[in-house]
Amino acid sequence: MTEPESPYLVERMQGFGTTIFAEMSALAVATGSINLGQGFPDEDGPAEVLDAAIAAIRDGHNQYPPGIGIPALRHAIAAHQAKWYSLVYDPDTEVLVTAGATEAIAASLLALCEPGSDVVTFEPYYDSYAACIALAGAQRRVVQLRTPDWSFDAAALERAITPATRVLLLNSPHNPTGKVFSVEELELIAQLCVEHDLVAITDEVYEHLVFDGRHVPLATMPGMRERTITISSGGKTFSCTGWKIGWICAPPDLVNAVKTVKQFLTYVNGGPFQFGVAAGLDLPGSTFRRLAAALEEKRDRLSAGLAAAGFTVLPSAGTYFVSADIRGLGETDGLAFCRSMPARCGVVAVPSVAFYDDKDAGNPLVRFACCKRLDVIDEAADRLQKLTP
Ligand code: PMP
Ligand code: GLN
Repeated sequence: MTEPESPYLVERMQGFGTTIFAEMSALAVATGSINLGQGFPDEDGPAEVLDAAIAAIRDGHNQYPPGIGIPALRHAIAAHQAKWYSLVYDPDTEVLVTAGATEAIAASLLALCEPGSDVVTFEPYYDSYAACIALAGAQRRVVQLRTPDWSFDAAALERAITPATRVLLLNSPHNPTGKVFSVEELELIAQLCVEHDLVAITDEVYEHLVFDGRHVPLATMPGMRERTITISSGGKTFSCTGWKIGWICAPPDLVNAVKTVKQFLTYVNGGPFQFGVAAGLDLPGSTFRRLAAALEEKRDRLSAGLAAAGFTVLPSAGTYFVSADIRGLGETDGLAFCRSMPARCGVVAVPSVAFYDDKDAGNPLVRFACCKRLDVIDEAADRLQKLTP
């Protein structure tokens, strides 16, 4: 966001600059601040997951894996969808392993959008959505999740759909808000997708990190399995965000479309890590619940610390994140506020305005990552008290 754009950069990517996560993580390193900006855990995930990747390296799985992903992982993904959501996918024709959810999102949008297509999504939106929609030559049409409860206006969603709309891009559990879309909301979205013959792309990378309510995949709604590309990733669930093992589940025609693009983006990635994520997906339900419970405690601890420091804390039902309104601190400009935080209190956060088209709505909001050790959250909470006017 800070660097001048290169004159070589194509017009459709002008304005995307450097991601807010890179800017804020660099600021944290440069100032020695506690980084509650970019969402990555500071502890390792389950030993079984790590051990399986280490064993795969030692066992010589160090060359290109198959283009669609190793069989063990594709079978584990299909078994996971069946076990958790009663969604049945053929591991050979309806599952595709990708370089993180990021590549799955990019390849899906590039595969489905013609130049001039519209993509409907909700704001605030994860930053790569806007960039990939632009890369595809498509336009985004956003529907706002409104504070204080992150609800949206059903009529606004209906209005956002035009004859040019090809795709509805949903993220639940949602980054940055922590919203978990309700069954009623998903029913409405599904109904509109069916009515307007849209393909749904759903980003469910936080599917196991839900504290309040439960995660329901859009593909389980009536008429949706056949028109939904469900995306997830091992990074969040198993605390290995650097591994970049993601996947899609969809009917064969949609998988084939995405595969055609995906094979020319990365071809394949992360061979040994695919074994690790396969082992993780096979872990018992109790392990997933323990991971979510640990994160819930962190969410609560960070939320209390933010409230004590004078922030208005907004509800987060899941994910790595808690959002807060800074107006109670006498502040209105989240970007300037985040840039000043290292010097003022030694903590880094992300200005939510980076995820909004409606800058007025996004300016007073700041996102904090709660996926850090409790002692780190406590230290950050102490430091944040210095902001109190
Ligand atoms: N979608 C959302 C909503 C995210 O928060 C992230 C962040 N990691 C991603 C996708 C990207 O996931 P991956 O690291 O697996 O590419
Ligand atoms: N998903 C992470 C976040 O929202 C960031 C990943 C990235 O840096 N692109 O913080």
